[in-house]
Amino acid sequence: MTEAAPLPGRPRGGVLSGPATARAVNVLAPNPSAMTLDGTNTWIVAEPDSDLAVVIDPGPLDEAHLHHVVATAEQAGRRIALTLLTHGHPDHAEGAGRFAELTSTKVRALDPALRLGDEGLGAGDVVAVGGLELRVITTPGHTADSLCFHLPADRAVLTGDTVLGRGTTVVAHPDGRLGDYLDSLRRLRSLTVDDGVHTVLPGHGPVLEDAQGAVDFYLAHRAHRLAQVETAFENGHRTASEVVAHVYADVDRSLWPAAELSVRAQLEYLGEHGII
Ligand SMILES: [Zn+2]
Repeated sequence: MTEAAPLPGRPRGGVLSGPATARAVNVLAPNPSAMTLDGTNTWIVAEPDSDLAVVIDPGPLDEAHLHHVVATAEQAGRRIALTLLTHGHPDHAEGAGRFAELTSTKVRALDPALRLGDEGLGAGDVVAVGGLELRVITTPGHTADSLCFHLPADRAVLTGDTVLGRGTTVVAHPDGRLGDYLDSLRRLRSLTVDDGVHTVLPGHGPVLEDAQGAVDFYLAHRAHRLAQVETAFENGHRTASEVVAHVYADVDRSLWPAAELSVRAQLEYLGEHGII
């Protein structure tokens, strides 16, 4: 779920569909839109010598796509053993129930309502399947239930909608909160500094090879937008829709409803911090 069309100066990547790292393969879902960029990235992750794989975000309820994911794993000689969700938005999670049925897997997510089976996901959890290790990082902000998955063996992180391959993400107020989102970006930044993560495997858009640059760009973009929103408010644009029309004038109008969610989150943040 993107907030803005591609912006100049942000880090760029290449891989969209197919293998991205030694352990991660993307199967692009056929749901492109202004909000989902090229479509949802459904990730198949496995140890190179393992016959077991994990799928992250089966994507929309699209029968052909879900079968394509299963077939892609099978062609590599793998059985899907577990389904994980980065968050509950339908473009990531709507197909999870059907996918679990097709693969006889459990679905693990932070939100209990999204789970199938008795296991959830939380901060510090390590998911281990066939020698593969994924470390769970809670990254609320886009939504309250957003997670990232650190794949240390590939120095990569699967970011869902917290960091996208293009443009910037929506802070989906009221579920998403800006203060949480900034904390989550800083958490991801420390992953790049302390754990040497350099590859972002996003929920939409191409793979990014400069994770730290991407996170820094997001932090700078957020600070820039926040300053714009504050100025707009001080200049008398008091409602979220007025602020959007002023601050997001250069962004396609089809994205304004999403931008309004981010503006609501920003106005809330400015209010909570006594700035406005
Ligand atoms: Zn989302």
